[in-house]
Amino acid sequence: MNLKEFIRSIPDYPKKGILFRDITTLIKDKEAFASCIDQIVEKSKLFDFDKIAAIESRGFVFASAVSYILKKPFIMLRKKNKLPAEVHSIDFELEYGTATIEVHKDSIGQNEKVLIIDDLIATGGTAEAAAKLVQMSKAHVAGFIFVINLFDLGGQDLLIKNYKVESLISFPGH
Ligand code: AMP
Repeated sequence: MNLKEFIRSIPDYPKKGILFRDITTLIKDKEAFASCIDQIVEKSKLFDFDKIAAIESRGFVFASAVSYILKKPFIMLRKKNKLPAEVHSIDFELEYGTATIEVHKDSIGQNEKVLIIDDLIATGGTAEAAAKLVQMSKAHVAGFIFVINLFDLGGQDLLIKNYKVESLISFPGH
């Protein structure tokens, strides 16, 4: 199934010049959503990993379904102040200002191998921050799977220098 047809592109959202790639039109179609999860599961066979981690919040939609199918533990990387217990925390650059993501200190064990899943990679800043959280837990990044790669933004090319990276579909531009 060609998942690209199910992504809605919305110009100038959330600000002028951004072409927003909307996954809600993919996940509301039961066949497209199922095919997307199956395709991630297929790609995951290229990786050696113990746990799956995903980035709030669209990453959760895909990664939790994959965790269920593969019977792998699921780890939430959340925005600042959402996790109740002790956390590792990392600040990173966004287009406007900075953001913070966190993981519970007891979520990922030393030397575990973690596959990180997200809906989309643009500049790669969010993905790099997720990798740092795994490393702060003294664990290893097994690699990344994205549903969408915005290849003009260069994030995937950046990550590929240090990690194994797969994505299901690609779009140009921002
Ligand atoms: P980045 O850190 O630049 O790789 O941005 C990745 C995050 O921002 C992803 O988790 C996406 O959900 C979101 N994002 C960035 N650009 C877009 C876009 N054009 N359309 C939809 N989501 C985007």
